[in-house]
Amino acid sequence: MGGTGVIGEMAGSTDSEALATLHRVFGFEAFRGEQEAVVEHVVAGGDAVVLMPTGGGKSLCYQIPALVRPGTGIVISPLIALMQDQVDALRALGVRAGFINSTQDFDERRVVEAEFLAGELDLLYLAPERLRLEGTLDLLTRGKISVFAIDEAHCVSQWGHDFRPDYLALSLLGERWPDVPRLALTATATRATHQELTERLNMPRARHFVASFDRPNIQYRIVPKTDPKKQLLSFLREEHPGDAGIVYCLSRNSVEKTAEFLTRNGVEAVPYHAGLDAGTRAAHQSRFLREEGLVVVATIAFGMGIDKPDVRFVAHLDLPKSVEGYYQETGRAGRDGLPSTAWMAYGLNDVIQQRKLIQSGEGDEAFRRRAQSHLDAMLALCETAQCRRGQLLAYFGQEADPSGCGNCDTCLTPPETWDGTIAAQKVLSTVVRLKRERGQKFGAGQIIDILLGKRTAKVIQFDHDQLSVFGIGEELTEGEWRGVARQLLAQGLLAVEGEYGTLVLTEASGAVLRREREVPLRKEPKKQAAARAAGTRGDRKPKAAAADLPEELLPAFEALRAWRAEQAREQGVPAYVIFHDATLREIATVWPTSIGQLGGISGVGEKKLATYGEGVLAVLAGLGAPAGETAPAPAPVSGAGPDADEWPEPEPEPEDWI
Ligand code: ADP
Ligand code: ZN
Repeated sequence: MGGTGVIGEMAGSTDSEALATLHRVFGFEAFRGEQEAVVEHVVAGGDAVVLMPTGGGKSLCYQIPALVRPGTGIVISPLIALMQDQVDALRALGVRAGFINSTQDFDERRVVEAEFLAGELDLLYLAPERLRLEGTLDLLTRGKISVFAIDEAHCVSQWGHDFRPDYLALSLLGERWPDVPRLALTATATRATHQELTERLNMPRARHFVASFDRPNIQYRIVPKTDPKKQLLSFLREEHPGDAGIVYCLSRNSVEKTAEFLTRNGVEAVPYHAGLDAGTRAAHQSRFLREEGLVVVATIAFGMGIDKPDVRFVAHLDLPKSVEGYYQETGRAGRDGLPSTAWMAYGLNDVIQQRKLIQSGEGDEAFRRRAQSHLDAMLALCETAQCRRGQLLAYFGQEADPSGCGNCDTCLTPPETWDGTIAAQKVLSTVVRLKRERGQKFGAGQIIDILLGKRTAKVIQFDHDQLSVFGIGEELTEGEWRGVARQLLAQGLLAVEGEYGTLVLTEASGAVLRREREVPLRKEPKKQAAARAAGTRGDRKPKAAAADLPEELLPAFEALRAWRAEQAREQGVPAYVIFHDATLREIATVWPTSIGQLGGISGVGEKKLATYGEGVLAVLAGLGAPAGETAPAPAPVSGAGPDADEWPEPEPEPEDWI
């Protein structure tokens, strides 16, 4: 058993089987955060509800109990398209995993069923719709089950954006298998969702584990939208050249157009939306997982459960409908813990659009009100002059550092605020005057043209140049007026009506017009925060995923990546199934020269060491001197000149890495 240095060293310090499994199978040093408590509780047979952000390490919470407890762990997951990859990744670790879903033919399914019944599976993945079938329940009854893991448990929530009716049937698990511990896991976690899923999954006795929702490696940025495709392109060119990422758009049409635009401009991108046939969608998703540096432009139909660890950015070209949605989507960046960006362009039209959608959408009054309050929270996040991370965490009921996070746009480039009371009054009085027009509908564009004193055809047609408000707003630019209107909408001082997006007053507007209420506004940045933030880290980043790796380690890192790509191609699996970037970084840094040393690196477990150990050492040996070796040298005896820290490369000692 064991055999690697780490396992040998650790075995004495603990008799916990869970920890031993963590070392041996996954090659990880220690549990993270709540993992240990969850694992301990479930291994002992308890139910658990686990709220952990994406990338927090939910999988280990059920994988380890499944490996430690006798029987097979059943994982219920809505993500059929990802099961193959999940199983491949586990098999690469030497875990006996399988899945049953509709992509298999009869024979394939029979093989897996037989393995399950023979007790030859550690983990079995199932789609929730399978559990509706008596045949599946019958199969499960005939085998031995160690634990039920309900992944993406928020799918049971009817109010959520990912509702799956089949999840409702999962409440029967507790009744049919009262002795098998159940674990519900999700990264969506407002108090309401949390409560709802606990009730609906019928887990009253479950212990609750709530991790911090902070994702410190993600930089949050929201910029005013001017020319979204161009803004996106320069964001990608300046900060994420060659990086893998996801761009979210609201409509299929803009998904297609944006993907085309990026491709035309030298950024490899593919579209993904529900209007594409299943084959194309699967092909694009698979390319995203397998290739390095591909951009997927998608509607929200894409991304749930995608556990590609090296997604370096998530960009939104349209406003998400809720903070939960935004948090879920942005959370797909940087699961490996390396620096990543959540970037969004947002403008006046987004607000009008979304408000219109809610007004004209389906659903009863309660549904509309709920949608409205979700949107309001999202708008508040967009318009805040405070730390974005703080606001996000507060939304999930958690506390943040009151002095700011230092890694969001408002912390990096604190926005200025100004007294927008008079500007607000000007907009509102114009709205009042237009209301008197016989049944005519005017949007924000007309209001701004009037304020700026522009004699457009439409202004002249309706004699709007005769209004007393005509030309009273020349102190601001058009962009600034759009910013004012947007913020008034966000603050509920303006509302949208009807299918043309007519602006109308709200109950709160009166107080502004009567000068009883001040209106602080955020200044529209002349130059985007992006520029400055980019300078802090984007400039010196020569290559994808090498983020913050010292220059001298890049050749080793790149050589390891090339080796990994080759392995992945041969085996037809995503590169991260071989090793994560974070593991390659550590290998490049530590520069192990023996199998024992390599086994001590995080992410190198027993099976991977056996499979790839020699290959990795050969790559390093092929590179010559370990890069790290040039850095720390003995202090110079005297006369340390300005170039004293540039040491000649030590002579390589061949026996070290043969
Ligand atoms: P989630 O499902 O919560 O989004 P994952 O289970 O995919 O998160 O884990 C996120 C990343 O963190 C993965 O790359 C995983 O290998 C890594 N990870 C999880 N737990 C540990 C740990 N204890 N030590 C080191 N890496 C870990
Ligand atoms: Zn911040």
